[in-house]
Amino acid sequence: MHSHSDDSSSSRIGAAFFLNVGFTIIEFIGGILTNSTAIMADAVHDLGDSLSIGSAWILDKLSKKDADDVFTYGYRRLSLFSAMINGFVLVGGSIWILIQALPRLFNPVLPVTEGMIVLAVFGISVNGYAAFKLSAGKSLNEKVLNWHLLEDVIGWVAVLIVSILLQFFEWPILDPILAILFTFIYFV
Ligand SMILES: [Zn+2]
Repeated sequence: MHSHSDDSSSSRIGAAFFLNVGFTIIEFIGGILTNSTAIMADAVHDLGDSLSIGSAWILDKLSKKDADDVFTYGYRRLSLFSAMINGFVLVGGSIWILIQALPRLFNPVLPVTEGMIVLAVFGISVNGYAAFKLSAGKSLNEKVLNWHLLEDVIGWVAVLIVSILLQFFEWPILDPILAILFTFIYFV
């Protein structure tokens, strides 16, 4: 019984991991194709998410094994290591986003809004589905991920609103503003 519920929590986190990795790849390609810095900022963020979900998955599996001294030591090192990698990715990614988004505040570039709308609808569906799947979970890891995924859904709703606005009004500055906002919000 014990191991049964453990397996399902682990497999739900595993499913969320593969969903996130797949979606991150689509976002990077989509961000470049649509020329949208907001989508690229989201892609960087989701890369960080993929890393933390991946390490949560590994830690979730490991936490089920019997804790001995050697294991506890390895567990802590792994947590620290993944937090460090994640930090590097987020700092590097944010710098990359700001380098692209800041100049666009002065020389706005209109992104491909139709592509942005498609990605936003996709983002809302993927994150919404992942949040829904994890909402069945009772482990702390799952609860934290679930809240986080709901925040991501809100981010994609913002992308959707901006891309719809851009369809009607020529305010290309909204895209870098959103990218910069994302970069700061996701850091806090
Ligand atoms: Zn996220």
